[in-house]
Amino acid sequence: MSRGDPERSLSVPLRLLGRGPISWSKTVRAADLAESDDSTELRIADVEVPRDSEVDVELTLELISGGLSAAGRITAAWQGPCARCWMPVEGEACANVRELFAAVPREGEQYQLHPEHADLAPMVREAILLELPIEAIACPYPDPCPNHPPDLDPAPDEPARDDPAEQQDPRWAPLEALRRGQAESP
Ligand SMILES: [Zn+2]
Repeated sequence: MSRGDPERSLSVPLRLLGRGPISWSKTVRAADLAESDDSTELRIADVEVPRDSEVDVELTLELISGGLSAAGRITAAWQGPCARCWMPVEGEACANVRELFAAVPREGEQYQLHPEHADLAPMVREAILLELPIEAIACPYPDPCPNHPPDLDPAPDEPARDDPAEQQDPRWAPLEALRRGQAESP
């Protein structure tokens, strides 16, 4: 399978525009969003969008004064390991975007608009990266793993704590009696 060229795959010819907003949607592979052969994958730490997985782009594009506006939704499936049991966990990154492409873009705020086309790939990449989880992933495998999430779902074999006497090791009974006696004395 040959790798896609982001200039082609997410390139929108401006001649398509010009008569009001258009709906524009495309599905590409994550590998098509890479900036060069050895580059940057769609990854943050251990969480990545696998190169062969699909990225859905659904946008409304419109030429406005100052450039091209792109608004809509970008979705991609990610994979990452559970922080505790290392089992693979899958999820979906869904980004709502509203961006401007300009001939002279404001750095960090706008994207480059070329004379005859707009390359949406940089915007799509950044939108997905911003939606990848950066916190510990809640594991969907509660049986071997307590990470589901730990605070709300205690292990079922954890002993009940409403009867402390029952948990008391009998060998400690004399010590416990002594301690109680000290507490009761003036
Ligand atoms: Zn786990």
